[in-house]
Amino acid sequence: MSVSFHGVRGSTACHDHQTHRYGGNTSCVSLQAKNQNPIIFDLGTGLRYMGGQNIEAEAKPFVGACLLTHLHWDHVQGLPFFKSLLREETVLDIYAPKQEDGRNLRELFLKKIGPPIFPISLDEFHAQINFHEIGDDDFMIGSTKITSRFVPHVGPTLGFRVTSENIAVTYLPDHQQPVGNFSITGAARQLCQGTDLLIHDSQYTPAEFETKSDWGHSTLEYAMWVAETTSAKKLALFHHDPSRTDDALDVIAQRLAVAAKNRGFEVFAAADGLTVEVCGVV
Ligand SMILES: [Zn+2]
Ligand SMILES: [Zn+2]
Repeated sequence: MSVSFHGVRGSTACHDHQTHRYGGNTSCVSLQAKNQNPIIFDLGTGLRYMGGQNIEAEAKPFVGACLLTHLHWDHVQGLPFFKSLLREETVLDIYAPKQEDGRNLRELFLKKIGPPIFPISLDEFHAQINFHEIGDDDFMIGSTKITSRFVPHVGPTLGFRVTSENIAVTYLPDHQQPVGNFSITGAARQLCQGTDLLIHDSQYTPAEFETKSDWGHSTLEYAMWVAETTSAKKLALFHHDPSRTDDALDVIAQRLAVAAKNRGFEVFAAADGLTVEVCGVV
């Protein structure tokens, strides 16, 4: 299974000479399994670059699904800039968490994508966009198995585990670390246990977490602990803080790579434009 990172930044997009190597787009990752339609994790600003789409390229039709963790800006802002929405052949199925107050997903999106906040309404795009409200569910998309579970963050937030051809990829971009001793909810453990690739929130250093402990995120050390305690094979550090420079990420990634090797797994820092092939254990 191929996993491509189009946006790896948390909270807000950033663009400057200190962040351009790892990239400044917000959360968007795509999965391509053999003979299956693509599955996208989140619709951050990285979505605009998926499939090598750029300003010059003609809009290509897209048929596939999005597993949306939650509705925060950094996870949805790319949607109206996804050129494939201009094609009427496009069918995008968005699976997103049902809201505690029962508000309808399509109506919530129409409030975000429509005048006066956006020039045109989401309903004016030519594509067919279907919303599916989900919670703690197990379902299939084609022959790919999807496990969705609510995880601690700010507001209703899902994590996902996608399994195809005995290869599992877990996506937990926004995950509130407990204050005090490390622990993990049963639901998050279900998503992570023995996964081949764990894409996990690693926004803060321990010092940053001290003043932002209720902002819904994890430290790099907690991401490492989750990977180790759930026997994940490989950890992708993800949802980098917008203030984290490329040079700082280089140092972190090198330090943690050595630590992870001693703890029985691999780690790397996700970067915009990076594609990794995920293989199961043989
Ligand atoms: Zn986020
Ligand atoms: Zn969030």
